[in-house]
Amino acid sequence: MKTSEARKLLGVGAEATPEAIKKAFRHLAMLWHPDRNPAPEAGEFFARLNAACDHLLELAGAHVASVSRKSGGRGEDRHQDIELDIERICLGGEVEVGLETSAECSVCNGEGYIESTSSQLCPHCHGSGKVRIGRELFRCDDCDGRGYTRRARCPNCDGSGKQISRRMLAVSIPAGLRPGDELRLEGEGHPAESAKGRPGDLHLRVKLKPHPLYTLHGNDLVLERPVSAFTLLGGGTVVVPSPGGERYLDIKPGAAKAREQSIAGAGLPARGKHPAGKLCIRLVPVLPSASTPALVKLYHALQTEVERAGHDSIPELAAWEKRWLSA
Ligand SMILES: [Zn+2]
Ligand SMILES: [Zn+2]
Repeated sequence: MKTSEARKLLGVGAEATPEAIKKAFRHLAMLWHPDRNPAPEAGEFFARLNAACDHLLELAGAHVASVSRKSGGRGEDRHQDIELDIERICLGGEVEVGLETSAECSVCNGEGYIESTSSQLCPHCHGSGKVRIGRELFRCDDCDGRGYTRRARCPNCDGSGKQISRRMLAVSIPAGLRPGDELRLEGEGHPAESAKGRPGDLHLRVKLKPHPLYTLHGNDLVLERPVSAFTLLGGGTVVVPSPGGERYLDIKPGAAKAREQSIAGAGLPARGKHPAGKLCIRLVPVLPSASTPALVKLYHALQTEVERAGHDSIPELAAWEKRWLSA
């Protein structure tokens, strides 16, 4: 259906909002719905009104609410990936999804050509005014046999009459989706061929956006955190980030080596058959890179104390010295 025809049927202008289109349709539907109007042509006319409403609303980027539409075929389902960051996967929330739809070109109203100001050679018949179909010559319809035409190929759609439009859809994301999960949005797929048909569904397959800090291992979230080697040696408390907010992590005294600790329940939230995951923190020791006189004094005192405690406190050093030094 042409846009101009749809507008004429519903009696709305080019500037009509989705609300105005729906209002016009509801008013006419009251008069023409076959349940209310016994005239034999009512059914067909109602179907045309329905098609006109669908068509205009699709252009307006909206979708039709409910006026009784019985099965008349169903539009195709649409499948698309949705990339979510780890915060959205953990916490849920609303995201906008762009949906590309092929619609009638708004410059030429789907005709594929526009009227130009000057006549030019008809590109269809190359100026002859006739086209050959099989063995017979017919009058060229594009220029009405004149060989020249004011019609020019529409620069917006390059003559196809179609343009790709993008509409944004707000999608509510539940917390705890896993990569590969699918969200189904009823009625947000492709429109049906028939005016009475329902549109198909939209299936969104969840993909995880890479994150500079977190990686996902099953249900667990893993991150690396630098920690002062002194904290690893002597113990202490450090703050660690998590999608749900910062958490405290107690570190027990131990070796100044990389180690992993975890916080139960701070990974992906439980959902369906998946249990809640852990937040795994890989602690990486770092040493001070600058010294102050006070620190130098402390390092010397520390080294003296380490030597007094015996070489067992640094086993690698003890083994090396035993092998390569005289005594
Ligand atoms: Zn022609
Ligand atoms: Zn066009």
